[in-house]
Amino acid sequence: MSSNFEDTYRHKGMRKQLVDLLRTKGITDENVLTAINEVPRHVFLDSSFVELAYQDIAFPIGSGQTISQPHTVAFQTQLLEITSGMKVLEIGTGSGYQACILAALGARVFSIERQKNLFFKTSEFLKNFPYRIKTFYGDGFEGYPSYAPFDRIIITAGAPEIPQKLIEQLKPNGMMVIPIDEENGNGQKMLRITKMEDGSLKQEEFGDFKFVPMLKGKGKD
Ligand code: SAH
Repeated sequence: MSSNFEDTYRHKGMRKQLVDLLRTKGITDENVLTAINEVPRHVFLDSSFVELAYQDIAFPIGSGQTISQPHTVAFQTQLLEITSGMKVLEIGTGSGYQACILAALGARVFSIERQKNLFFKTSEFLKNFPYRIKTFYGDGFEGYPSYAPFDRIIITAGAPEIPQKLIEQLKPNGMMVIPIDEENGNGQKMLRITKMEDGSLKQEEFGDFKFVPMLKGKGKD
C-alpha cells in the first residue's frame, strides 16, 4: 500500500475518466459515482502501480488477495441502495477500498477480514481516512452478532452458499449482496437477497463475476 497520500490534478483527472467509463458500463447511481470520484484508489496500491489504479481491473494487494475491480465495487454498491446513516456489514475487508466507498456514501461500516496480516495492515491504513469504519479480525461466516442487526450486508468474496448467520443478522427490509459460486466452478453469480418484513427472502440475480474464495475459519497469518 502506498504511504503517499498526494492526490494531484492528474490523479483526479484519471479518476474522472474512470467514473465516465463506469457510466458507459451501466453504473447509473449518481451517489455511487460521486463516491468513486471522491475516494483516491491509487493510495490503496503500491506507488509503483499508480498508473493502473484507475483502470477497470482487479489488482493484487498481498497475502494472495485482491482489491476488487472498480466496476465490481460500483456494481455491488449500487445494488445495496445505501442511504446515509445505514449500518453496513462487509465481509472481506481486503484493501479497505470497498469499505471507504460505503463510508463515503454515509454508511457506518463494520468490516471483517479473516487474514490476520491483512487485517492489521488495512486497519492501520484506514486511520488515514475520515470515515466511520470499524474493522474486525474474524470469520465472516459468523458475522458480527454484537453489532447486529444490519441494514445491509455485502460479501466481497465468492461464497459457496448463503451464510444463514448473516441472514439472521439482517434487519427486516434489509438487503444482502453476495456473489455465489456457480455449480460449474466458473466464477460467481451476483445475488441480492431482501429479508421481507415477515422474514421470508426475496432473491434477485445480476450476472456473472469472479472473486477470490470466501474461506471458512480465521487465517493464522
Ligand atoms: N473488499 C475488498 C476486496 C477483498 S478480496 C477490497 O475492497 O479490497 C476478498 C477478501 O475477503 C480477502 O481479503 C479475503 O481474505 C477475505 N475473506 C475470504 N473469506 C473470508 C471470511 N470467511 N471472512 C472474512 N474475510 C474473508
